[in-house]
Amino acid sequence: MKIQILRLFLTFIATMLWGSADATPRDRLHVVYVTNQDRPPLPEYKDRIHRIVLDLQDFYRTEMTRNGYGSKTFKLDPDENRKVIIHLVTLDWDFDSTQKFSPKEISPIIAKHLLEKGIDIEQEYIFVFANAYWKNDGVWKFDAAYTGTGNPVRGITWVVDHELLDPKNIVPNQTTHINDRGHPATPGQFNVKMLGGTAHELGHSLGLPHNKESKEESKTRGTALMGTGNYTYRRERLGKKKHGTFLTPAHTFILSLHPLFTDRVPTDFDVPNVFINDLKFKKTATELLVSGTAVPSSKVAGVIFYHDPMPTGANKDYDAFSYLAKMNNYGKFTCSTPLSNSDKCALHLKVYFKNGMHTTFSLTQEKGNEVASLQKSYQWEKVKYAFKKRDALTLKKLIKSLEKTDPKAVKPAQLFLANAERWKDFKTPAKLSSNKKRVALSSSRWDSVSFGSIIWENGKQIPSYNGIMDFEGRSFRPLKSLNGPCPDGIFAHAPSTYTYNLGGRWKVFKSQFGIQRGQYAGSVVFIVKGDGKELFRSSITKLADGEVPLQINVSRVKKLDLITAPGPDGRGNDWSIWIAPTLLR
Ligand SMILES: [Zn+2]
Repeated sequence: MKIQILRLFLTFIATMLWGSADATPRDRLHVVYVTNQDRPPLPEYKDRIHRIVLDLQDFYRTEMTRNGYGSKTFKLDPDENRKVIIHLVTLDWDFDSTQKFSPKEISPIIAKHLLEKGIDIEQEYIFVFANAYWKNDGVWKFDAAYTGTGNPVRGITWVVDHELLDPKNIVPNQTTHINDRGHPATPGQFNVKMLGGTAHELGHSLGLPHNKESKEESKTRGTALMGTGNYTYRRERLGKKKHGTFLTPAHTFILSLHPLFTDRVPTDFDVPNVFINDLKFKKTATELLVSGTAVPSSKVAGVIFYHDPMPTGANKDYDAFSYLAKMNNYGKFTCSTPLSNSDKCALHLKVYFKNGMHTTFSLTQEKGNEVASLQKSYQWEKVKYAFKKRDALTLKKLIKSLEKTDPKAVKPAQLFLANAERWKDFKTPAKLSSNKKRVALSSSRWDSVSFGSIIWENGKQIPSYNGIMDFEGRSFRPLKSLNGPCPDGIFAHAPSTYTYNLGGRWKVFKSQFGIQRGQYAGSVVFIVKGDGKELFRSSITKLADGEVPLQINVSRVKKLDLITAPGPDGRGNDWSIWIAPTLLR
């Protein structure tokens, strides 16, 4: 009996560290080691990498526990000896220090290697160590990506390996130094910085943006990992500083929703259409109070604020303070932040869903005019939300009030309105009279759509017909293939799925497909499904292919999916378009 309990306990411990025996997508982090054919992996890389990822696992677990989520961390892929599996990818070219070790070139090779083992990098989390450090005149250098990108759908981290990279090396009283890119460092200092960078980039690949510790946290905890915590990782172990790096409450909350940290992988990664109602701001002598209600609230897990002195955006957000709002079961939340000294701040409200996905509302706050400036940007968020629902009536009302409060916003709002007005006349193909023998899908209602930009946070474009529409309503560009303009088309940046209800009442689906002119690096696979069954799959399509025709039988098909999937080099430049997609009886 006792042995059984012990075994159960050990299995329990094991499942917290490792993915289960039966792999399902997104249930573990896959580690890759990439090197050149003339450079074998560094000595003992397997043991070192094992120690590194276990140390990172331990860091994340400690922070999750401290923030009240229990002993949660990302899961790894074990071999039969419970050592992390490292997929060795050897490039078939020699190392060249003058050439960047670039993800763009190497990603497709890793993707192919992993696919042979049943791992699809488009729906997994990948951690790449590149053997790219080299030594010249006693100075260590590398020219390689040090980066992480991702979200609950997928993620990839790129870091660089070094023979000294090892948590074992973070110990006090070291006297030897190496020269790392011009900076002398003890092996301990080197690891504080480089393992810190590794932990930080991994954070990005898990969907964490940048943020900064508060004054109080700086005294009691050290540096936020997603701020400059990459320079202080495990620094306390060197014996001179009391605190190293930590994770903020907002960021452990985000991780608590990530599939790698939960026991269940969500069945969908949809971003529900929510809005914040009754958003109110109140200024006190020292604080800004924000309250509102996220509706509908059923899929909402929580609300996070980033208060970010301008400028904001990618790599301008290291100084953003993050807050986890208090929220009740009905989506009503409150939060307060100290008043900022900056002239202008961005207030990003991020509504997180139970599947780990989120949606962002970005407001601008001006010093001295806090409440009025925030209200003005809230008004614009209302316009965007009304457009998301193609709600022409509400848009008209909002434009009326914008004329008084924010004249500059009238023009983009009118672009939204014109688009929504057209949508009003669109019909679902299933509902068209059988006298109508053909219908263009570019003027039909889709039932649902998932789109590259939804997965890309703050995507620049939105699902659209007959043109490419900017998310802020500032531009509407016509669709164009290599052959020329495509007036009746659908913009479908990969990955995307447009779903139409045919009701089993159409016979033929006819279309061309291609890549938007100018996107030379795009490569996309076009797929058509009828009631979930694949009816058509293109080969990898590039701009040079021009307009490729397709015609298939869709008799009795009720649900038609038009899907675009990124080619092996990932989703960059994948501006795919369906050209004149048409249904015939
Ligand atoms: Zn970063």
